[in-house]
Amino acid sequence: MKQSPEMQRLEEMLRSSTLVAGGFMGTDSRPVTEVIESDAAELARLGVSAREAGARMKAITDAAIQALGTWARIDERRWAKVDEARGAIACPWSDGRAFRKRVTTVRWGDSDKRIHWSDLSIHMIGEHGFFEGRGSSFRIEPVELVRVLF
Ligand SMILES: [Zn+2]
Repeated sequence: MKQSPEMQRLEEMLRSSTLVAGGFMGTDSRPVTEVIESDAAELARLGVSAREAGARMKAITDAAIQALGTWARIDERRWAKVDEARGAIACPWSDGRAFRKRVTTVRWGDSDKRIHWSDLSIHMIGEHGFFEGRGSSFRIEPVELVRVLF
């Protein structure tokens, strides 16, 4: 599918590293529309909408904020912690939204595995269906996110 000029501009923005080191596309050479469509198809197979995933991520972050930098117990299986840096970052979609540089880390079960997301990731997944390109430091595979969230 040919991308519109708007998507072309967005993609240039996502690939540039002026917002975050390395940009949001990582080493992914696919067009941004293809990244979004492929993740949307994966989510549909998993029976979850991007909006639901974003809402659940936000609920976990909000719960973890109360623990002030220590691990908060979300439920029997999950723990989450929030770290905050100074400053804010604007959404690359130029929709006037900006987010604090806050990172939520989630661990679950007896696993040593962790996933993390920023407040901007929550917004980009929930509102734009964008999980970032492969190789990007905040890329989360939809299948892994759904396993952790639900
Ligand atoms: Zn946005």
